[in-house]
Amino acid sequence: MIFVRILRRLLFLLLVFFSSLFASQDSVVILCYHSFIGNKPDNHYDFSVSQMSNHIKTISSLGFRFVSWQEILDGKVKGAKNVLITVDDGHKTINDVWPLFKAYKIKPMLFIYPAIVDRKSNTCTTSNLRVLQDQGAVLGGHGWNHLFIAQKLFDEDIVAFKREIYYGRKKTSLIARKEIDVFAYPFGVYSDVTLEHLKLAGYKYAFTIDKGVQPLPISKGRGPLLIHRYMVTFYSWKSIRKILENGGLEIAGK
Ligand SMILES: [Zn+2]
Repeated sequence: MIFVRILRRLLFLLLVFFSSLFASQDSVVILCYHSFIGNKPDNHYDFSVSQMSNHIKTISSLGFRFVSWQEILDGKVKGAKNVLITVDDGHKTINDVWPLFKAYKIKPMLFIYPAIVDRKSNTCTTSNLRVLQDQGAVLGGHGWNHLFIAQKLFDEDIVAFKREIYYGRKKTSLIARKEIDVFAYPFGVYSDVTLEHLKLAGYKYAFTIDKGVQPLPISKGRGPLLIHRYMVTFYSWKSIRKILENGGLEIAGK
């Protein structure tokens, strides 16, 4: 009897060992879009509504689920076939793709910088952003006026550096009607000092445009202030598509 028990225990331990070896890491492919104007062949960051529709259909037909930031925070995102859509800079053409987003239950994150909100005609207004927020979008910070918030700015103009982080957060929180804790680095640039001040300002999460599939929970990988994203451009879409075709896993050797 003892022998059988030992054998059973051994088999159980082997099973645990192998299942942990092959257990798939939960992850999400985070995409960064900008605008949806559609008549800008020279702007590689811009996509027409029909191009965006094709992207969404491709992502969906490859078996990916569009996940929300809240689901990620709640630990509800499992497996590797997950996509989170983020849109930077607050261009008003988000409204043109909104019906598409609604149809596919996409709840995007919108990273905005208040210096242009209610001031530039091609940017979403505060009330527009609040409507999108009420319909599931998550508003996040993107500086005050989209400067390069790195060591150089800290050294040369600390007032401007702090305005980007602290004042930017205050104004974005007013637009969002709540204290925001997510940020996206303008131009994707950052230094150690940027991370330091983001934390002091009350930011808990920050999105880069450093390529890579983001492991979950979000604190994994490089930590919550260096979240991976893929910037989607006319040129990068091809390689992003390959990663999606590979099941949301990075392609070895790339
Ligand atoms: Zn930006």
